[in-house]
Amino acid sequence: MRKTIQQLATQGVQALKPYAPGKPLSELEREYGIQNAVKLASNENPLGPGPGVLAALRAQFDDVARYPDGNGFGLKAVLARKHDVPMESITLGNGSNDVLELVARAFLSPGSAAVFSAHAFAVYPIVTQAIGARCNVAPAHNGSRGPKYGHDLDAMESSIDAQTRVVFIANPNNPTGTWLGDNELRSFVERVSHDVIVVIDEAYFEYVGEAGYPNAMAWISEFPNLLVTRTFSKAYGLASLRVGYGVCQPELADVLNRVRQPFNVNSFAQAAAVAALDDKEHLQHSVRVNQEGMRQLVDGLQALSLEFIPSVGNFVSVDVGRDPAKVYEALLHEGVVVRPVDNYGLQGYLRISIGLPEENRRFLDALAQVLAA
Ligand SMILES: *Cc1c(COP(=O)(O)O)cnc(C)c1O
Repeated sequence: MRKTIQQLATQGVQALKPYAPGKPLSELEREYGIQNAVKLASNENPLGPGPGVLAALRAQFDDVARYPDGNGFGLKAVLARKHDVPMESITLGNGSNDVLELVARAFLSPGSAAVFSAHAFAVYPIVTQAIGARCNVAPAHNGSRGPKYGHDLDAMESSIDAQTRVVFIANPNNPTGTWLGDNELRSFVERVSHDVIVVIDEAYFEYVGEAGYPNAMAWISEFPNLLVTRTFSKAYGLASLRVGYGVCQPELADVLNRVRQPFNVNSFAQAAAVAALDDKEHLQHSVRVNQEGMRQLVDGLQALSLEFIPSVGNFVSVDVGRDPAKVYEALLHEGVVVRPVDNYGLQGYLRISIGLPEENRRFLDALAQVLAA
């Protein structure tokens, strides 16, 4: 019997489901004919970037025919200063997802395994399975010893076996919005063997204001197996440009650099990221708008008597109390795009990104209407 194309793919790839992104507004317009919809589905900054970023982008037009700086000198120099590390500690990525994939490509193989928590960010299983490596999924907290649905570091430690080469930790995690404190996370990193690469994904770092929330970047000099990732896609408002980075000791960065595509971060993204780092006011404003929006959304959800997972990110996952696919669909018809999260094992939940006040209002009104129908 001739094999199908699917059967020719590696086993890991055969078992993969493609990443399901938030529905773009253009698709909603195309498929439903709905105009003026709001998208609260991909944890983007609703303000977009500041004016300095737009000027930096314009300045790049003249060089469009040239390859970007494959070593990202300008951006790495700024990041090195910001984090007080040598430039050799920084790996730029086409989004931080790219850095996560570099880790998988460099350290995983068929026969090895990656550990991550249930309900963790969807890219961890994708990059692991794409290599043909095994996913050791640790059960999350059930609410008795830690925040329900949050990463259980003891369970994650128990899931590390002889084949484990990588541990992925999202702090805070998406789509749960749960976070790990300084002492517990640091003590976990101390306990893990240096033969295992520990990735701490801080995609929402800028949003978190809780006391006891750690900056894992400060531990890099102590742990040769630690990689901390950040992104410009969330609080910095550059999601479309695809730029993120990882920070680790130079020896680990050297390994990641070997599997990196030569020009993985384009010149627009590099210039925009430099400009975004320069505009602290816009970042602070973005964080403030998020805090106020979170309060607005949480108040609104409570007024509707809905359960939600307390979140420190720019999103919140809410138990809609009935088939979330139907609520999602009904919200689309009201011109509001949110994110189904059943693929994350959060049955009954939808994830809502924090938007501008009028967008949050629009969502809350639409949800009230849909739930009353
Ligand atoms: C959004 C997100 C990322 C990164 O996205 P990029 O756009 O690729 O930088 C990484 N981790 C988590 C947990 C996220 O939610």
